[in-house]
Amino acid sequence: MNLNEKTVSGKRVLHWSMIDMLERCPAQVENYAKYGPRPPAFVLIEGTVTHQAAAADLREKMERGRLMDMDVLDNLTVQALRSEIEMRGVRLIGPELSAGLKARTQEAETRVRALARCHHVELAPVIQPTGIEKSFLLDIPWASYAIAGTLDVEEIAGLRERKTRAKSAKQADAEKSNQITTYLLYRAASLGRLEGESVNDLVAHFDCLIKTKVPKAQTFETRRTLDDFHKLLARFGVYQKMLEAGIFPPCSEENWKCSPAYCGWADVCRFRRNPLTVAVPELVEE
Ligand code: SF4
Repeated sequence: MNLNEKTVSGKRVLHWSMIDMLERCPAQVENYAKYGPRPPAFVLIEGTVTHQAAAADLREKMERGRLMDMDVLDNLTVQALRSEIEMRGVRLIGPELSAGLKARTQEAETRVRALARCHHVELAPVIQPTGIEKSFLLDIPWASYAIAGTLDVEEIAGLRERKTRAKSAKQADAEKSNQITTYLLYRAASLGRLEGESVNDLVAHFDCLIKTKVPKAQTFETRRTLDDFHKLLARFGVYQKMLEAGIFPPCSEENWKCSPAYCGWADVCRFRRNPLTVAVPELVEE
C-alpha cells in the first residue's frame, strides 16, 4: 500500500486497504507510515490463506469448468499457509506463546484446510465466476480522489465478497458493509448505471466462512441505493481530508479491534496504554 500513490490525472488513490484501516482505527495509518507492515497474528493469516485457497478453487472452475480435486486443494492450502508465514512472519499472542509456533502452525493447518473444504463443498458449486480477484480503479469525476480495490468474485448476476469470521454473520452485516457498497458503486459506474433507480437491481452476495469446530458457510444477498453511494462518498471525502491533514485519531481501547490479535502495532502504538509485548518468531523448519 503506497500512501502517496496518484492516478494519471494527479488524483490521490484511496486503496480499499487504507479505507479499511481508517474505518477500523485511523491511528493505524500513522503506525503503518512510521513502522511499516508488521507480521499478522495467526487469526488474520488463517483468513488470508482461506481466501487464497477459495480464489484458486474458483479460478480452476472459471478456467477449466470444474473445481479442484480435494487433495490438490488441501495441498495448495497448506502450502499457502507456509508461504504466508515465511513471507510475512507471524506474531504469537496470549496462550499461543506457551503453546509454541509449531503447535499453533499445526492447528492453523487443520483449520484452513477445513475452511477451504467448506468453501469448496458449500459455496463454490453455486458460484459461477466470470472474474476472480479483479483489481479496479474508480475515478469519480466530482471527487478529489480515486478509489482502488480488488473484487473477490464477479458473476454475470453480480458480485461476491468473501470473509472468514469467528462467529456467525447476520443480514445486517451485509447491509452495513462499506466494502460491498464500494464494490457495487464500481459495478454501477462501470455499467453506466449511476442514475435513478437503475442501481437498485445490482446485487452482491456476502459469503461467510465461520470458524466453528466444523466450519459452516453462510450467504447473504444485498443491494444498495443511490443514496447509499452518496453517503459512502461523503465518508470517503472526510477520509481524504484526514489524509491531507495528517490527522489520525485512535479508536477506543475498548474496541475489540484495538488488540494484539487484530492490530499489528498494538505493541508500539503511542495511544495504547500498557501495550502487551508479543513475540515475532522466525519460522524454523523442524
Ligand atoms: S493499538 Fe489501538 S489505537 Fe493503536 S493503532 Fe492499533 S487499534 Fe489503533
